[in-house]
Amino acid sequence: MTHPVLKALGLGDIESGTYLGNGEWSKTTDAGVIEPVNPTDGVVLAKVHASSQSDYDTIVERAQATFKVWRATPAPRRGEAIRLCAEALRTHKDALGSLVALEMGKSKPEGDGEVQEMIDIGEFAVGLSRQLYGLTMHSERPGHRMYEQWHPIGLVGIISAFNFPVAVWAWNSFIAAVCGDVAIWKPSPKTPLSAIAAMKICNEALKKGGFPDIFFLFNDGGNELAQQFVDDKRVPLISFTGSTKVGRIVGERVSRRMGRSLLELGGNNAIIVDKSADLKLAIPAIAFGAVGTAGQRCTTTRRLIVQESIYDDVLSKLVAAYKQVEKKIGDPTDPSNLMGPLNSRDAVEAYLDAVSQAKAAGGKVETGGAAIEGKGNFVLPTIVTGLTNDAAIVQHETFAPILYVMKFRTLEEAIEMQNAVPQGLSSSIFTQDLKAAEAFLAASGSDCGIANVNIGTSGAEIGGAFGGEKETGGGRESGSDAWRAYMRRQTNTINYSDALPLAQGIKFDL
Ligand code: NAD
Repeated sequence: MTHPVLKALGLGDIESGTYLGNGEWSKTTDAGVIEPVNPTDGVVLAKVHASSQSDYDTIVERAQATFKVWRATPAPRRGEAIRLCAEALRTHKDALGSLVALEMGKSKPEGDGEVQEMIDIGEFAVGLSRQLYGLTMHSERPGHRMYEQWHPIGLVGIISAFNFPVAVWAWNSFIAAVCGDVAIWKPSPKTPLSAIAAMKICNEALKKGGFPDIFFLFNDGGNELAQQFVDDKRVPLISFTGSTKVGRIVGERVSRRMGRSLLELGGNNAIIVDKSADLKLAIPAIAFGAVGTAGQRCTTTRRLIVQESIYDDVLSKLVAAYKQVEKKIGDPTDPSNLMGPLNSRDAVEAYLDAVSQAKAAGGKVETGGAAIEGKGNFVLPTIVTGLTNDAAIVQHETFAPILYVMKFRTLEEAIEMQNAVPQGLSSSIFTQDLKAAEAFLAASGSDCGIANVNIGTSGAEIGGAFGGEKETGGGRESGSDAWRAYMRRQTNTINYSDALPLAQGIKFDL
């Protein structure tokens, strides 16, 4: 029987995972079946037919044809297409938010929040469609004008992770669309239904508005098509969101063909709690950052670095907060629950493995540290103390709710610890001390792409550029001037004089 959450979005027990354009979903049935599992009870939600080689070829050919039309469409008109998508998502927010919660396992408010992010980035993109500015420069030559303009780059390939099954696509595809690009999406095999539903909502809106198909979708049974996608010269930009392990492979392959990649990879985010911190702000921020989405956000708080004079107080308050959360672990589609399950059995194994590695390295489990018996992939949120920042498990991103709590003496030492990991995504300090806050934000402070004061590491707004340094991949998405990644820059010089002066005063007398 079709799950009611799927029914509400017009999805059935068997779905095609391939949108070919021209209103057509592929009829391929012999390229494998993807079976997304409900992480709450382990039951298969529906079957999704994976895409074939010929589906992939059709998509790329059609996307190339659409690009020729789309790049010539005025940018504000492209913005109108995205306005309609955002409007349709607003209408379906509750239903799509429930599907995200059901399939990924995040709580219902977080599922709705993810759809809200899609709406927000859509509205941002509409405004952006009138602001794709280039600079003008003063030429050194008389009677010359110099300026730069931004042109669409072409086909944008989006490979996304399971933990933000729809928002990451919108961040990329909505901005790419107003830039004049056409987007092809390969979602995570763990969350294909959310992807199919999001595509259906947006494609319907585009069709009603009389716009061409600018969004395509394929689902890969294995990794063969995804790798072909990464290697495909017809796709000038691959935007990849996922683990550092896979991102490294993707980045290397794309650069081998001189393509462009935008990498949004793993994080190992820390919060520093200075002795002047307001704990009324810090404790809930740490708890939300570490436990929200069951620790399955790239910006999840994984390390807590506390000034030694307040360490005992912070730890006991935090353990008490975790005990409160423990009472509200359950079905993520029930809005009263604060924490849902991990997305897969593999993730539960990785969590248990990390807990035993932490113990073996001398760590003490202050709370949690075990899977919850019964159906589904539920685990207890966990706090581990007694490890140093350089312990192998502390250096590693385990995609689960495990927080390593450590002490510091001086702020310098805290900043050094915060930076001493391979990843560089998000970071925070809780302090009332202006000097400490500024030191944290200075060039010698946090080395992350995101650095916050008195708010946690997770829950970024779409208005800023999102991404991180080092093994997080260096990519920036979403707000600010992140749109530039989806365009090619052209520098233009126009000579409106009757002479041909050469640059740098060079003489070339003929
Ligand atoms: P993952 O790396 O396992 O998979 C990501 C995507 O890559 C999936 O669509 C997968 O099918 C695809 N893939 C796998 N092998 C591939 C290959 N050889 N070639 C091309 N594509 C391939 O990641 P995941 O488990 O889905 O997501 C969790 C990870 O993503 C975490 O590390 C998390 O920090 C990271 N993440 C980062 C951000 C960010 O913005 N920095 C956001 C969300 C998630």
